[in-house]
Amino acid sequence: MTEKTTINIFGAGFAGCEAAWQAVKQGVRVRLHEMKPMKYTPAHHSPDFCELVCSNSLRSDSVINAVGLLKRELLDMGSLIMEAALATRVPAGSALAVDRELFSKYVTDKIRGCPDIEVISEEVTGISDDATVTVIATGPLTSEPMSDYIRDTLGCRDLHFFDAAAPIVDFSTVNMDIAYFASRYNKGDADYINCPMNKEQYDAFYDALIHAEEAALKEFDKNEQSKLTVFEGCMPVEIMAKRGYDTLRFGPLKPVGLDDPRTGEEYYAVVQLRKENKEGTMYNLVGFQTHLTYPEQRRVFRMIPGLENAEFLRYGTMHRNTYLNSPGFLDNTYAMLTRPNIFFAGQMTGVEGYVESAASGFVAGVNAARRATGREMLVFPATTMIGAMAEYVQNGSVGGRFTPMNANFGIIEPLGYKVKGKKTVKYEVYAERSLKEIEALRLTLKQE
Ligand SMILES: Cc1cc2nc3c(=O)[nH]c(=O)nc-3n(C[C@H](O)[C@H](O)[C@H](O)COP(=O)(O)OP(=O)(O)OC[C@H]3O[C@@H](n4cnc5c(N)ncnc54)[C@H](O)[C@@H]3O)c2cc1C
Repeated sequence: MTEKTTINIFGAGFAGCEAAWQAVKQGVRVRLHEMKPMKYTPAHHSPDFCELVCSNSLRSDSVINAVGLLKRELLDMGSLIMEAALATRVPAGSALAVDRELFSKYVTDKIRGCPDIEVISEEVTGISDDATVTVIATGPLTSEPMSDYIRDTLGCRDLHFFDAAAPIVDFSTVNMDIAYFASRYNKGDADYINCPMNKEQYDAFYDALIHAEEAALKEFDKNEQSKLTVFEGCMPVEIMAKRGYDTLRFGPLKPVGLDDPRTGEEYYAVVQLRKENKEGTMYNLVGFQTHLTYPEQRRVFRMIPGLENAEFLRYGTMHRNTYLNSPGFLDNTYAMLTRPNIFFAGQMTGVEGYVESAASGFVAGVNAARRATGREMLVFPATTMIGAMAEYVQNGSVGGRFTPMNANFGIIEPLGYKVKGKKTVKYEVYAERSLKEIEALRLTLKQE
């Protein structure tokens, strides 16, 4: 019997775990290098792999939503992350949310239980052996020696910016005489807790929020104007509020479709809380990523009706986020153009989000194994959401600048003809087209 080829994967997050799982399915052995539990990034706390550092939601579950379609594609292709998400889901209306501890444990057990994956506990600081195919998936908080290596030795111009995490409160301390359960427009089960505000309450809250004290910035976290650098898709609530009096009321505090089931009253603004764990003992404040100091979070967020005595189990935080300037550096299998034995995967490639990171890990893992065993690359067409993300990483830019991107229908290959009716009809056609392609790819892999 011939010995299996071994590849290296750095980082056991969403991308690294998915990559390892798919690489093994392609017939190679994997050495998975993870620095936890010896060293943690500022946002990771659990010794388990694949940790959700902020929201526990993997977002929409519908195939006529872009990330919903991405999840379905991954599921059909046999993704480990999707398997774990379905096994540990918690009720969250039309979203797929998970119990974060059970989710991480599920993935960790699978990886540790796999005979073809050897987990190595170490902080990697570079690639010593050029001949071995390597996937770098050390995430948005890649430790400094490794990001230095990527910038200086691999020659990538990288960027730093921040993401924000929302606070979590103890359910038993939420005043349910004021707050109420409901889902917007009564869609799905009434899984969200809603904290209603009249105009007077909103005015007081708004004023406190825009004047609240922000945490101090570290020198390397500032942008050219010495201000906090933020990503539009994960905007701190206080920065959003400073954009205008009504910005929150048209965003995370939108009251429409959330009439009080007890009285039928429509409120001026509503803060929503989403279940954080299966037991429903913890809830996060939806859209409340923040950079306020902890005492200010306690003071200002307790002004939200129903949260006057809320106990904060975790405060919102801000963290650095590192990503590559991928176009011209990576191809659509996430391999380096100049050193094809080196692949990248996950958030650091410029995909944004848990599911998107897993999707890039899927593509990189499959192709790293194929490279190592001398087989042809498997390119996902841009008519699939998995392929559209890869295509974006290879070629994409917004306003002439490459910025991280969530799955969305704006990047999928256009149909080339007009579809009559509502936008959702077009999305149904996209989904049907994509899932056919995915089925063909799945069969190709199966027959090999
Ligand atoms: C504060 C914050 C909040 C976020 N909130 C959300 C959210 O709500 N929803 C969402 O979809 N996405 C969110 N993101 C983005 C999120 O990070 C990604 O969606 C996802 O975790 C990325 O997966 P990944 O595999 O690329 O990285 P990660 O999941 O971070 O995995 C990287 C792994 O590499 C390890 N590692 C790092 N450096 C080294 C090294 N030198 N050697 C060995 N191991 C190393 C880390 O310990 C970690 O386990 C957030 C990110 C941050 C930073």
